[in-house]
Amino acid sequence: MSDASSQDPYIYADNAATTPLSPRALETMTPYLTESFGNPGGIHRIARDAACALEGARARTAELLGAHAHELYLTSGGTESDNWILQGAVRRHRDLNGTSRPVRVVTSAVEHHAVLHGCRMLREMGADAAMLPVDGSGRVDPASLSDALDDAERAGADVALVSIMLANNEVGTIEDIPVLAGISHERGIPFHTDAVQAVGHIPVDVDELGVDALSLSAHKFHGPRGTGALYLRDGFSIPPMVEGGGQERGLRSGTQDVASAVGMAAALEEACEDLEGRARRVGALRDRLVSTVLERTPGVRPTGEPDPHRRLPSIASFICHDVDGELLVVLLDRAGVAAATGSACSTGSTEPSHVITAMGWDDPSWNRGTLRLSLADDVTDRDIDLLCERVPRCIERARLLSGFSR
Ligand code: PLP
Repeated sequence: MSDASSQDPYIYADNAATTPLSPRALETMTPYLTESFGNPGGIHRIARDAACALEGARARTAELLGAHAHELYLTSGGTESDNWILQGAVRRHRDLNGTSRPVRVVTSAVEHHAVLHGCRMLREMGADAAMLPVDGSGRVDPASLSDALDDAERAGADVALVSIMLANNEVGTIEDIPVLAGISHERGIPFHTDAVQAVGHIPVDVDELGVDALSLSAHKFHGPRGTGALYLRDGFSIPPMVEGGGQERGLRSGTQDVASAVGMAAALEEACEDLEGRARRVGALRDRLVSTVLERTPGVRPTGEPDPHRRLPSIASFICHDVDGELLVVLLDRAGVAAATGSACSTGSTEPSHVITAMGWDDPSWNRGTLRLSLADDVTDRDIDLLCERVPRCIERARLLSGFSR
């Protein structure tokens, strides 16, 4: 198999890892990287200009999520937001209830490592974490949440937080957050969702979801990297994770990155324009890609939720028999496709993906061959045609070279 020729377009199908900055976001950011460089904490006019832009961006981002400006705290992205809410919820619980009873957080086995490894830190704080199982499509059964909350009661442990992701980053499955949050609230337990993959891709409204806290990250919807937010519902307050000059109403100190905040707001505004129309168009192209790859390639199965209304429109995910996923990604790169195996945020690991394993794929002849193609909003028919040619060819080639069954 030869490498893609210089005339063939290279197709970036790794948008769940990160997206390019939108020109509109860049244009909005530029003045705050140049002449309007003030520290928003200051008093003079340059500082006031920056503060005004910062608060405008906060208000617009909040509005697009159905939230109020004072409920949105700017962070460095999804990882920080997730870690902050996990640790913050445990500390809040102890502040309110004392330290005599064991404290637990309930989450799911398919969360991003920002949550799963964040839970390791909780263990160091003397709290524990319960992981809910998922079914073969990656969905949490609401009954398993009720069972986990019953278990905690029986064990005499207080649950400080339930945290279940809105959409999975590896297979795109969308969880039933309103139902899960309802179960949590019936017992008076706060509910957080990691919406990093969902915001800007499907409609996200904090009231419709019924959550107390939500994490988002700008670089997943064509905003700048290193910027995100934690939404905390009015009245639900957690202690700060970063202490210092008292920015972000004393909860997240550090001079705010005004340019990135305005870039995030501009990118989200753009992403929310005709969100449903775009999702329909991208979803139809994704469906064509999945069915063609399956038709053309033996020993390949789709992963994640089959119902198109319960999965992200942009993610096509597969598992390939007798294929080394990392080798496949290298071959795809040489053939002109940027793709990912498992979670791109955990590269360097040769273990099968924890998401795929939790979904019941425990056979090593399958679970090392995961492939995720995450499409851009402006993906074209021609891009899909090229993916439909290149992906089956690379899977066959990777299977020959992987030599698992020989
Ligand atoms: N949560 C999910 C579901 C993600 O997909 C990611 C990144 O891929 C993160 C959290 C981490 O976000 P960030 O890269 O902004 O730290």
